[in-house]
Formats: sequence, structure tokens, C-alpha cells
Amino acid sequence: MRVSYSKLDTYKQCPRKYKFYIDKAPQDPSRTLALRFGSAVHAALEFAYAKRYKYPSPERVINYYRGLMQQESDPQVLKLFEKGIPALEKYLAKNEAAHMSIVEVEKKFMIEIGRGHQLEGIIDRLDMLPDGSFEIIDYKTGQIPDAESLSKNWQLAIYQFAKQRKLQTSRIKASLVYIAFDGHKLTYQFGKNELERIHSEILDLIAKIEADNVYAPRVSALCNTCAYQPICPAWTHKYNIKDQVLTGKIKDTDVIDIQSKIDKLLVLTSTIKKLEKESKQLKEIVAIFGKENNMTRLFSDLGTVSLSFQKKRAYDAARIAEVLRENLLRKIVKTLDTKKLEKALPYLTQEERKQIEAFTTEKESHTIAVRPTIEENEDVEELLT
Ligand code: SF4
Repeated sequence: MRVSYSKLDTYKQCPRKYKFYIDKAPQDPSRTLALRFGSAVHAALEFAYAKRYKYPSPERVINYYRGLMQQESDPQVLKLFEKGIPALEKYLAKNEAAHMSIVEVEKKFMIEIGRGHQLEGIIDRLDMLPDGSFEIIDYKTGQIPDAESLSKNWQLAIYQFAKQRKLQTSRIKASLVYIAFDGHKLTYQFGKNELERIHSEILDLIAKIEADNVYAPRVSALCNTCAYQPICPAWTHKYNIKDQVLTGKIKDTDVIDIQSKIDKLLVLTSTIKKLEKESKQLKEIVAIFGKENNMTRLFSDLGTVSLSFQKKRAYDAARIAEVLRENLLRKIVKTLDTKKLEKALPYLTQEERKQIEAFTTEKESHTIAVRPTIEENEDVEELLT
């Protein structure tokens, strides 16, 4: 199977989106704004840094970008493209091609990764640094992620792996460059073990893709920007209900009826949430009153509220994990579950118990049992007035 980072990442996001992608299903153009903007910025940077007799001036690069902008007519896209101009100007001013040692731009690669699979991709730019090492550059037009996520970034790992193979050196690091954020750079260099781990994760994912014949939609926040939303089965009710009525698949009276039921269900669910929040606040107030006045049962004409107060031991899991790291007990209390930890305490040495004691606090808690005597058909509003 021949895969790319973008195909693998699309499958991870949503198997159905992957299926649409490989089947070249039609995309909703109004949902590809960010993609078009990203492609134009990439094209402008390719124009700026591609090897030729003389690198173009920043003005020429911006004119080239404006040319791409003219191919767009959607006001929303144009607004996005406008923002790209100062971002590109800043990046080009700080990164003059003539002062850099650019090895490749938009270079395709294809590597064998075992089990008969190939991995392909295109690397935005490869620079040689003054110390003779290499830096892979991948331009981004979105938001900056957490730096901690870099060690799990398959894209950078794949690029580093591909270049290491081709250049036969491990002196390669990979960077994400955020054009809209002053060219902010996040850099990572994967170690041998990390590359091996990601390599085996990729092979596992390929096996999963090969075995998949359902491609189930995975609804998430990413649906908001998915260009396949109008044809996705998870969104049929939103986009295709009219067609189904017109073709006689569903009766319009059924559609109206179910719509009112959906509305009612949503209103009820939201009301229950609000009531649960209010009930929690009232329980707290009642518990504080009971505690302060040393009462465990409170009465009303509408029922009773019973209170019980306990002291619970709270463990600082992170600190205790440090204490137990080298210890056998770590195996017993893998998750630092409070109950398991308490069961294991008698088997510890006095010194270990002392260490755990230092990271233990006592917290007061309470439980409340509310027993209304209100009948189901009684008017609650009236009872409260
Ligand atoms: S709309 Fe959501 S569920 Fe449907 S294909 Fe796109 S990402 Fe997947």
C-alpha cells in the first residue's frame, strides 16, 4: 500500500474522511478556505526559495502571491489571503534566501517502509546549516501546537526518517514554521528509538486501514472544517432530509413530527443540566448549614435531607509515584488508585509509609441523601410558592 502522512493523518481523524479523500469525492468549496490559503502561502514560499539563477526579491514574491489571490473571488478567502501578505513580508525579510544554504524545495520522496508498503510525501524545504547538519522546514498556516506534542508528530518523524535514509546521516532536525506567527519555529530531532516506535505505529495503522471496509464516520470538532460534510452519512439529516422527502423516502409529516421531538429532547436535556447544577449548589448550602449546626437530618413538609460527614485521605499521586518508582509496590499500585494504595500500605516498610504520609492530606467530604415525598403529578411550582 502506498501512503502519505496526510492520508494517514486523515484516517486517524476520521476513517470516512479518508475514504472520501482516496475516492476523490467532491468537496464543498466553502469548506476549503483554509486549505486554499495554505496552498497559496506554500506556492509563494516555493517561488521565493526554489533554486534558480537568482532568487526573486520579496516584492516579486508578494506580487506572485497577489496573482494567486486574484484567482479567488470569495470575500472570506480574500480576507484570509490579505492577512498572508504582512506575514509573508515579515518571514521573507527575516529569511533572505541569498543568505541561506537551501538544498531542496518542494522535493518529493518515496521510501519503502516494510511489509511491502511505501511512504511518500513532499518536503517544503531542506536547508544546510553552517555546521554542516540539515534542517527540514515545514510551513504551517494554522495555530501553534504545544511544543510537547512534537515528539509524537508523525509528519516530522516521517520527513526526518526519509531524509536520513537519503542523505545517510543522522544530523538532521525537523522544524515546523508558523508563517502567521512571525515565522515562529518549533524544532525536534527524533532519536533512533522514537523513529522506530513511530515506524511500527505507522505499520499498525496501515494494517488497520487495510482491514477496514466500513470507514465509519468519526464525528468531532474537525467536522466543522471538513469539506465532505454535505455528503457524509453522519450529516444526512442536516443536508439531505429535503431530498428524501422529495423522493418520497420519508413522509414530510414524519419529518415535522420528529423535528419537534428532537427540539423537545434538546430543551429537556439542557433544562436537566441547569437543574442538576442548581441542585448541586443547594446541596452544598444545605450541607454547610448541617455541618455548622451539627445536624445530620433536615426536614421540610416536602421530605427530608440526610447528611453524613467523612474525612477522606487524599494522596498526591504525582509525588507518591516518584517515591514508588523504583519500588516493587509500583507494580501493585499501577494507577495509584486510592483504595489499592490503602490496601497495599501494610506491606510497605516504615520508611516508605513515612514518605507517603508526607504527601497525604486529609479532606473532609459529605454525602447527601434527598428524599422528597412529592407525588409525581403534584405541581412543583405551586409547592415552592
Ligand atoms: S464530516 Fe466529520 S464524520 Fe463526516 S467525513 Fe468529515 S470529519 Fe468525518
